[in-house]
Amino acid sequence: MISIEEAQRIILQNTSPLPVEDVPLLQSLGRVIAEDVSAPWDIPPTDNSAMDGYAFSSSLPEKDHWVVTDFIPAGSAKMSPVAPGEAVKIMTGAPIPPGCDTVVPIEDIDVTDQGIRPLKPIKKGANIRLRGEDISTGDLVITAGSVIRPQEIGMQVSLGRIAAKVFRKVRVAILATGDELLEAGSVPTDGKIINSNSYSLAAQVLEAGGEPIVLGIARDTEQATRDKIREGLQTADLLITTGGVSVGDRDYVKETLQALGGELLFWKVNMKPGKPVAYAILDHKPVFALPGNPVATMVGFELFVRPAMLRMMGYSNLFRPMVKATLTDPARNKGDRPHLIRVRVKLEQGGYAAAVYSNQSSANLASLTQGNGLLRMEPGTSIAAGTEVQVTLLDRGFEMGDLGEFLKEDVCGDNVVPLARQCGCL
Ligand code: AMP
Ligand code: MG
Repeated sequence: MISIEEAQRIILQNTSPLPVEDVPLLQSLGRVIAEDVSAPWDIPPTDNSAMDGYAFSSSLPEKDHWVVTDFIPAGSAKMSPVAPGEAVKIMTGAPIPPGCDTVVPIEDIDVTDQGIRPLKPIKKGANIRLRGEDISTGDLVITAGSVIRPQEIGMQVSLGRIAAKVFRKVRVAILATGDELLEAGSVPTDGKIINSNSYSLAAQVLEAGGEPIVLGIARDTEQATRDKIREGLQTADLLITTGGVSVGDRDYVKETLQALGGELLFWKVNMKPGKPVAYAILDHKPVFALPGNPVATMVGFELFVRPAMLRMMGYSNLFRPMVKATLTDPARNKGDRPHLIRVRVKLEQGGYAAAVYSNQSSANLASLTQGNGLLRMEPGTSIAAGTEVQVTLLDRGFEMGDLGEFLKEDVCGDNVVPLARQCGCL
């Protein structure tokens, strides 16, 4: 049985980025850009005023009055020269006319009958933003491989762009297997349960930036399993199956993948939950056969599918962040495999605290609805309450999610108040 790390290594060795596509700029948000972006022009394009004020030449230092001859609003294209001894009233962003080298803000100016008089000593060059001082023509502004955030969108628009070349989103087909499964929206009866895995997986795919294709349920027969796998691989770049990959009498997924010509690269990983996971390449596409227990399915996605998807979409940072947290309860791994324990991480005054969820069954999805992190415990180890541990954070909006509780409890530590202000809660 291979280790989690070995399994991840095999998966990533067999995964490469998808082709790139041109998308309207807003659709590139959160995706990886596949081209360098250089500036076709200077920003700002002209010398311009940083303040609402008055522009003039500072070349007559003994002068104490300047005669105002013109008004230059933002957007003005007028550039008549300004003679020494004259000034123009100028608004923020308006181009500096020839003959001016200094802007004095309105607040620092006394307007008299003779003209204007600065109230403070003049500093030559003050309050002028020079052409190209932010970005010069030819500067490399965004490098290929960067993840596009709102600021990269705005930057590209300011450089005249309306589209971007990004890695394509991964299309992920999701197949549930099992005679016991009912469609979503059903009421469970007669030993049947609802197919929740297809939907938690589809949501995980969406959250990772991919496009889920929910194939539905294949009953526990070779024929049904084969037909659905074929269907999924027609349109998808990657296939996930759940259930039917263990040693049960009606577990057909692994054998079917091989019968279809798939190359099985591993089966069974030394971990709990989710040991009987298989990984195969079929039609040059990665196939992840995850076990059916709902937590095993979701943890398998986290550890194996998500990094592969991210690499296919051009990301270089493939793994979730880890944080240091103080364990609030004692934890013990009595088993003989590394255990990924579900914990609830909270931001407290001294830092993060992690509480161990009581029921760690791999069938118990509540351990993940109540939890938001995974703590890896090696076999036969114990950790005392109060110990600092490394926890993988699963939630994207983790801090925001916990903020409500903190505000309700009126516990505003140093970290919480600035965060609350940022999100407009205070
Ligand atoms: P299997 O891996 O097929 O042996 O299934 C293991 C357990 O996971 C069984 O108790 C199933 O009922 C449950 N399970 C399998 N598939 C799903 C699914 N799509 N949604 C929810 N639970 C499932
Ligand atoms: Mg099954």
